[in-house]
Amino acid sequence: MSRDPLDILQTVFGYPAFRPLQGEIIAAVTAGEDRLAIMPTGAGKSLCYQIPAIARPGTGLVISPLVALMHDQVRALKAAGVSCAAVTGDTSVDERMAAFRALDDGTLDLLYVAPERATMPEFQDRISRAQLALIAIDEAHCVSEWGHDFRPDYRQLRPLADRFPGVPRIGLTATADKVTQEDIAHQLGISEAQVVVAGFDRPNIIYTVQEGAARTNQMLNWLEDRRGRSGIVYAPTRAKVDAFSAQLVKQGFNARAYHAGLTHPERRDAQEMFVTADDLIMVATVAFGMGIDKPDVRFVAHMALPKSIEAYYQETGRAGRDGAPAETLMLWGAADVARARSQIDEGYAEGAESDKQRVDHQKLSALTAFAASAACRRIALLTYFGEPAPAPCGNCDNCLNPPELTDVSEDAVKLLSAVYRTGQRFGLGHVAAVLAGDANDRAVNLGHTDLGVFGLTPDKDMKDWRPVQQQLVAMDALRADARHGGISLGPAARDILRGETKVTVGPQPETRKRRRRRGGA
Ligand code: ADP
Ligand code: ZN
Repeated sequence: MSRDPLDILQTVFGYPAFRPLQGEIIAAVTAGEDRLAIMPTGAGKSLCYQIPAIARPGTGLVISPLVALMHDQVRALKAAGVSCAAVTGDTSVDERMAAFRALDDGTLDLLYVAPERATMPEFQDRISRAQLALIAIDEAHCVSEWGHDFRPDYRQLRPLADRFPGVPRIGLTATADKVTQEDIAHQLGISEAQVVVAGFDRPNIIYTVQEGAARTNQMLNWLEDRRGRSGIVYAPTRAKVDAFSAQLVKQGFNARAYHAGLTHPERRDAQEMFVTADDLIMVATVAFGMGIDKPDVRFVAHMALPKSIEAYYQETGRAGRDGAPAETLMLWGAADVARARSQIDEGYAEGAESDKQRVDHQKLSALTAFAASAACRRIALLTYFGEPAPAPCGNCDNCLNPPELTDVSEDAVKLLSAVYRTGQRFGLGHVAAVLAGDANDRAVNLGHTDLGVFGLTPDKDMKDWRPVQQQLVAMDALRADARHGGISLGPAARDILRGETKVTVGPQPETRKRRRRRGGA
């Protein structure tokens, strides 16, 4: 005898109607089917398992790595009259005993635990005696090495779920590209037909991506125009977080630093300040953000290339959750890409590229192609997540201020050829010198003055080649080695060399600045 989901939505949660696809997922899970829900933050994933857990007999087991979020949810559910508990490291013995008693009695609707507890044998014995309504796996991307936050504990959840064959399982995550979605479904034993992707568009967010020529100043200027608003600035390292937040404070901004090097109380204090203040800029590493509930974040900025498109989407998605206009700015450069490539390659034997490594390179290429792209950012993002692409959005930098594109395919072929002919070991400086016909000692000693590409483009210097190189790196036609500075061909080089793929570049930083001033934006 299960209760009607719509009735629960209205009487327990006080909402009149389901959101698109929410109702569908809830109906399926209530009927005992599995689902993997890929829905962005704020889309309403929690109800997707809370309502079926209440509707079905027995207890819904919810596995979530976010202890703070669990306690928030339990508090809210209890206030709504739902019988539920979280068993975490902070739970007192009395509370835990009460929770397990309710579990045994069949009066507990929801039980929240962290993955490391869910996989403990004592815990599994306890629940094996209980009747489970469903098993919900929150932050399900943690099960996939292809996701952005792999957690080995998550691999133990599959055997746990398999111990309850008739119990529906529902995985939930905000961010996973197509490949990762398939892997999560596979890892959790959910069939691909039961994967639901919903609602990634965030129409109120303006996406802007710029090359970082002088990043600190660029960011300071951008923030200057947004004084008094609350936002997050992501920086790549703790040292940069500390330095930039100090700089902001010196400039009279209300700013705080946040990274994993702070003590637990310091971090909690910073988080609380951020949630309550309406003009605080949080300068942070990616350690900041998960589970923070602040709907009126007005901007999210990145000082450097984030880890992946998923990470970018998730991090920028913290802006404008109230639906009011919000802005994002990402600064990046070829150096970020080179560093990320060598980080991916670290720890792998040369020549033996693993699946994981290959996927990471692909993800990085997708991200840099997105950053270097002159097309609508929103279309690019939605396509990446497997949602049908809409018309150009009119609300991103490239739609608002379309860059003029220059076809540099011929130059690209020359540069790729020169990289190839010189042995794929040298930096852009040497390759450009060879192309320019500079018979310096090195070129002479290496015999590069005898190559067909020597002096092919006498009127171009290294500065002219940089944008072409950057675009080729973005397309994964060139790979730059951060340690040795050498550039080599990537997999996309072939089609460019054959004339099958065009290479275009947007306006370069100086022209862009002029254009912006004229446009008054
Ligand atoms: P997610 O887990 O996907 O980030 P949440 O489950 O926290 O999102 O939901 C985000 C907000 O939307 C919550 O405040 C929730 O109560 C609200 N919400 C969810 N479903 C509905 C609905 N059908 N109608 C109105 N509000 C909803
Ligand atoms: Zn657009």
